[in-house]
Amino acid sequence: MKEVKIGETVVERVLRYVKYDTQSAEGTGTYPSTEKQKELAKQLVEELKELGLKDASMDQYGYVTATLTSNTQRAIPTIGLVAHMDTSPEVSGKDVKPQIHRNYSGGDIVLQGDRSQIIRASESPELAKKIGNDIITSDGTTLLGADDKAGIAEIMDAVHYLVKHPELEHGTIKIAFTPDEEVGTGVKYFDVKKFGAKYAYTLDGETIGEVENETFCADSVTITFRGVIFHPGYAKGKLVNSIKIASAFVEKLPRGEMSPETTEKKEGYVHPNSVQGGVETTTVKFIIRDFEVKALKEKEEFLRNLAQETVRNYPRSSLEFKVEESYRNMKHVLDKYPEVVEKAIEAVRTAGLEPRLHSIRGGTDGARLCYMGLPTPNIATGGHNFHSKLEWVSVQDMKKAVEVILNIVQAWTKT
Ligand SMILES: [Zn+2]
Repeated sequence: MKEVKIGETVVERVLRYVKYDTQSAEGTGTYPSTEKQKELAKQLVEELKELGLKDASMDQYGYVTATLTSNTQRAIPTIGLVAHMDTSPEVSGKDVKPQIHRNYSGGDIVLQGDRSQIIRASESPELAKKIGNDIITSDGTTLLGADDKAGIAEIMDAVHYLVKHPELEHGTIKIAFTPDEEVGTGVKYFDVKKFGAKYAYTLDGETIGEVENETFCADSVTITFRGVIFHPGYAKGKLVNSIKIASAFVEKLPRGEMSPETTEKKEGYVHPNSVQGGVETTTVKFIIRDFEVKALKEKEEFLRNLAQETVRNYPRSSLEFKVEESYRNMKHVLDKYPEVVEKAIEAVRTAGLEPRLHSIRGGTDGARLCYMGLPTPNIATGGHNFHSKLEWVSVQDMKKAVEVILNIVQAWTKT
């Protein structure tokens, strides 16, 4: 594509969007989990309409969708661009006061609203590379919300650019902004068929240049230990305390391996994240993670055997072992459509960046979309330190991300 001035509106957009409190919440029983997310959704619908995307709308679940119609007679696959509107339940996103640190000269950034909040260059290797960039942070009292409002701003700016430059050929582009990603249900009611994209990209990654094509495979395991309850004064030889069985079981879990605190890169783990119970029954919940289903199942079998072995030491006790699937590695789907990731790599390179494939030690909405029939890798937004008061994003990186989006759109016209 010809030399263009990218990012005319991306900065003002992100500064506007982070001021909407869109924090999602666990276990509210509603969808979206918090009503306030719809305020940003309504704003985005208005802005998309102003850009001429006439069908822009929000549905009952809070999903914002819109179509930028193809401007060519040629048959080009319909591409989706997806970002999430909510912010993490872990840190407040209310009254965010974004700060721009212009022409970053290196060293630590002390956040002025709470001077104990310091983004240390030594702990943020990516920041150390951003000398001369304009860095956006919060004032230290809240998160920033670049996750994922940087992604929304970048998509909006790319759409804005395409609308202003009709000479740039593009196929039909579908836009979706989703709620509740941070509580793991971002695409629960998303209608892939109605959306109508053949392939999509989430803009929800971190370091610029990265293309994420791989996630964990994830299950949850619930183990319920059953003892025998009796009046403790007359319980000799009768009472079996499930709390003690569960404790013995937890004590046997491996420590040097198979734990989040002792694994990295492509290693998986079993992670107990809740214990609840009393004398009669005690329930231990786990999340299980690995990049391959086979290794995931081996970890579950390991837990099952360990639990059965434990129960054998407590006559008349029993256990119940339940596995629930959470999500699967999106690479298994993306490998069937190699051009989707290839176009993203090409787009990154065209933007003058060194492309890097990256595996996520977690999930994305894209991983779920892949298994709902919409192959969706994840693209970097330039944001860092997500879910914390030390969150930051570089203005220059955001502009690069817009360029990557435009290059992806261009790359698909060449098929
Ligand atoms: Zn995110």
